[in-house]
Amino acid sequence: MANNYKPSYRRQKTVLTASTKAVIAMLVVLVITLAAFLVKSVISSALKPDITYPPESGQDSAAPEETGAEMTDAVPVTDVPSRTVDPARLDTRSGSLVLVNAQNAYTLPDSVRILTLFDERHDNFTLDNISVRLADEAYDALCRMTDDCADRTGYCPLMLISGFRDEEEQRSYYEANVKNESDKAYFELPGYSDHHTGLCFDVKLYDRDGLSYSYGRYATEKAKWITENYKYYGFIMRYPANKESYTGIAGESNHFRYVGIPHSIYITEKGICLEEYLQLVRRHPYDDPLKIEVEHDEYLVWYCHGDVIVPRDGDYEVSGDNVGGFVVSVRK
Ligand SMILES: [Zn+2]
Repeated sequence: MANNYKPSYRRQKTVLTASTKAVIAMLVVLVITLAAFLVKSVISSALKPDITYPPESGQDSAAPEETGAEMTDAVPVTDVPSRTVDPARLDTRSGSLVLVNAQNAYTLPDSVRILTLFDERHDNFTLDNISVRLADEAYDALCRMTDDCADRTGYCPLMLISGFRDEEEQRSYYEANVKNESDKAYFELPGYSDHHTGLCFDVKLYDRDGLSYSYGRYATEKAKWITENYKYYGFIMRYPANKESYTGIAGESNHFRYVGIPHSIYITEKGICLEEYLQLVRRHPYDDPLKIEVEHDEYLVWYCHGDVIVPRDGDYEVSGDNVGGFVVSVRK
């Protein structure tokens, strides 16, 4: 009896030891896997320059130089099924993100419709003169913004001074205003002006008291709603005071430029200029897009040089950058 029992006991003890080892091994593997996942998550979130809405702080500034370059090595995150468009079918001069500055001349493509605003509805903004013109895309956004401003506050004080200018008009404007070397910092050369796009306009304020005021000086006092909300209508300040080294133009505090959503929100909340934004976007190809969160929506933005990769289905926008590439944006 004793002989029969002992081997049986020893076998049972051996079996228990093996299963305990297996359990320990499984736990070790589990812990290592969890640790690896946590480390990867932390590194991944630290590298992403995404913004959240609303921003936690107005000082959340991420210079493009500090982000992006290393991100092209990150795990691809685009899960949007795609197709390719021949870039010969598109025009790098078309779209809300065209870049025009002293290095990038611009001619308006035939596809852009320029409207004379005196002939159009302008219920909730005024015109300084009858020759103010805009591209239809910028005009539509301006109407939405000024209508909402009037609805919410009872009055919209924006008065448009100048919009689209062709090269000849810019030449006259430049020659009339540039009298000496120091003036050149404030005026764009003919052929190289943001005003050639039809997507921008200069404003002043026309208040209920019948007086006019500079937007730059009275932006928060007399145009608080516009100043707080223009980014939600696709507009940016094209020439921030501290960005002359990028834009080539000294601060012009009354020049609105239409770039579209979500770009306007990202640019404004990060405190960067259009040149910096496009530098950043150019570091994000289709398989590593820039992610922009606006309220509950997530946008993916990527840059294409050569073949243009767009979503196979659904809505998306493509804009040329006037430099040789295209920016694709999709709301997920
Ligand atoms: Zn201007």
